[in-house]
Amino acid sequence: MKTYNEVKLAQELIRFPTIKTEDKGIMKFLSKKLNDIGFKCTVIKSKGTGPKLALNLYARFGKSKPHINFLGHTDVVANLNNWKIPPFKGVVRNGYLNGRGSQDMKGGIACFISAISKFIKNKKFKGSISIIITADEETTGYGCPATIKYLKKRREKIDFSIVAEPSSNISVGDEIRIGRRGSMNGIVTVYGKSGHSAFTGSYINPCTALAKIIAKLKSASLDNGTKFMPPSNLEFTKINVDNLSENVVPQSASAKFNIRFNSKHKSASLKKKLSKIINAVAKKEKCKTKIEYRVSGEAFYTKPNKEIYMVKKIVKKVTGNSAKLNCRGGTSDSRFLGSIPRLELGLRNTTIHMVDERSPISDLKKLTKIYYNILENYF
Ligand SMILES: [Zn+2]
Repeated sequence: MKTYNEVKLAQELIRFPTIKTEDKGIMKFLSKKLNDIGFKCTVIKSKGTGPKLALNLYARFGKSKPHINFLGHTDVVANLNNWKIPPFKGVVRNGYLNGRGSQDMKGGIACFISAISKFIKNKKFKGSISIIITADEETTGYGCPATIKYLKKRREKIDFSIVAEPSSNISVGDEIRIGRRGSMNGIVTVYGKSGHSAFTGSYINPCTALAKIIAKLKSASLDNGTKFMPPSNLEFTKINVDNLSENVVPQSASAKFNIRFNSKHKSASLKKKLSKIINAVAKKEKCKTKIEYRVSGEAFYTKPNKEIYMVKKIVKKVTGNSAKLNCRGGTSDSRFLGSIPRLELGLRNTTIHMVDERSPISDLKKLTKIYYNILENYF
């Protein structure tokens, strides 16, 4: 049975210029690598950024329980000008792996595939290992939901998932993510009655109502936070009144806001709560409203369980770090995993999305060792 070296594999992956949802042959390459060590691979198509469909990969080794999963994405962001070393060359120099995706997150994918290949070769175990590789984490985010839907249809149940996003900061394993706040955007438009500003009583000014709505929403206490997440917070990001005259009371006024909410809320109940506050103020001011919401992600959180403590212990053993459990960072495919218990643990995020993205080789070695130890302890 073959094993894969994490650095060599990461170099190979970086050489596919997989910007946006372009495949460039990377899923075929990965399928071949995984087939060769005994995985059964399925390509799952989802809507891409262009006319071509995005290709995502689900690979599984074994049929029985327990079932551990590794999740990653092969797409990378652009920002490709002024690099010292070309971004898709995958050059190793002075102890660093250079290239777009070295940290976010082809490096992480190479580490878990390497660890899995060595584990399968060295150990007999009962259970399954699966891998989900998506093609659009940085853009549309349809790949992961499509794959989860496929698994549901086939009644394949993942017991624990490790998302290999670059979660570490100063050194590998200093932080482990166990959840993420949710994010929702809203636009509230208030309709009054326009008129001449000199004729009090003949108009209803939507600006007054909107100002009161903003004050009320900002002063509303949503919660006191949780152990791992700060209190939910709402911020107004834009206020707009289309009015070119100084002596005309406008017909309408609108404002946009973004709310970052913790795991005490679901977007649906938050919408209700906010709409109730908005409509109560508007009614008092004799105004009508239109409220639109767009949810970019629900809050999620895995209560520290035995797997999470096991990983924390392994990180300590391999790196000496006492990993901080937290819910920081931007969104990731982790938000699509529903109720699957999971954590995010990967390389450092010091150069992600930047020019000259690179990762120390020693980080790749450490992370591979961590993943290997996780497999050994999990089964
Ligand atoms: Zn990423």
